[in-house]
Amino acid sequence: MELPVVNHKDYFAKIGDDHKFPINKFAELAKFLKKEKIVKKFHTPYPCSNETLMRAHSENYIKDVKNKTLDIRIIKKIGFPLVDSVIQRSLVATGGTVLASKLAIDSGLACNTAGGSHHANYHEGAGYCVFNDVAVATQYLLNKELASNILILYLDVHQGNGNSDIFKDNRNVFTFSMHSKSNYPAKKSMSDLDIELEDNMEDEKYLELLKTCLNKFNKDNFDYVFYIAGVDIHFNDRLGKLKITDDGIKERDELVTENFFSKKIPLCGVLGGGYNKDFNKLVELHASLHQSCAKLL
Ligand SMILES: [Zn+2]
Repeated sequence: MELPVVNHKDYFAKIGDDHKFPINKFAELAKFLKKEKIVKKFHTPYPCSNETLMRAHSENYIKDVKNKTLDIRIIKKIGFPLVDSVIQRSLVATGGTVLASKLAIDSGLACNTAGGSHHANYHEGAGYCVFNDVAVATQYLLNKELASNILILYLDVHQGNGNSDIFKDNRNVFTFSMHSKSNYPAKKSMSDLDIELEDNMEDEKYLELLKTCLNKFNKDNFDYVFYIAGVDIHFNDRLGKLKITDDGIKERDELVTENFFSKKIPLCGVLGGGYNKDFNKLVELHASLHQSCAKLL
């Protein structure tokens, strides 16, 4: 069976050639997945509807993004210019995670080639995140009764603070974030389970901690999982402060995907962050998620 993977050309946006965010990675990742024969044909998402967005974001915030009337302070916090292609990208990438989340129910595993915008909150975006795609898709699945106990597993170098806030009073959603203590955001929010890592942590200790946590997550507690496979934990990342190797990331992705696949808990995988100093390496590292999933199907 081929792994369902969602992609759209509009994942690219015109944020300026000298922007720090590696926006070309989405198209390059899609090319890489085809070249490596992990994907033959991508699933194409629609821009997320207002009705679905409103399950995780305020009506005013959505309106301000779409009408470009967002407060300059919030645009600065997001870090992208509020132009048409950025708005389109935010809607399509969110629609992409919603689509992937549905596809995972039938096949056990499905991935987006974007997503994991985990710093966006109910009222505003932040840290290169306009809409919180995983929060939107989580609410969508709950509302459609496609899942009832959802685990959001954040293994990005940065805390998944937007989700921790959005779901802090929701008993159907468990947020777990394992991240670098000294990385953004300076003021962390409270997940249901946070593991804060010291700077320069290496593979062995990281994977050991992860294994201990994964053992706790099983079918009795959860019937769905979102996995945010940030690769900014890599030693050569421009922002991350951990020292995880290529093999460490590969092993992490295999551990997570095998763990839930063997327990028959559907998993939707999304990218999360990645700002590697080596662009080709960045694309290869992001593809580790899709490779791990494809191997299991
Ligand atoms: Zn990150």
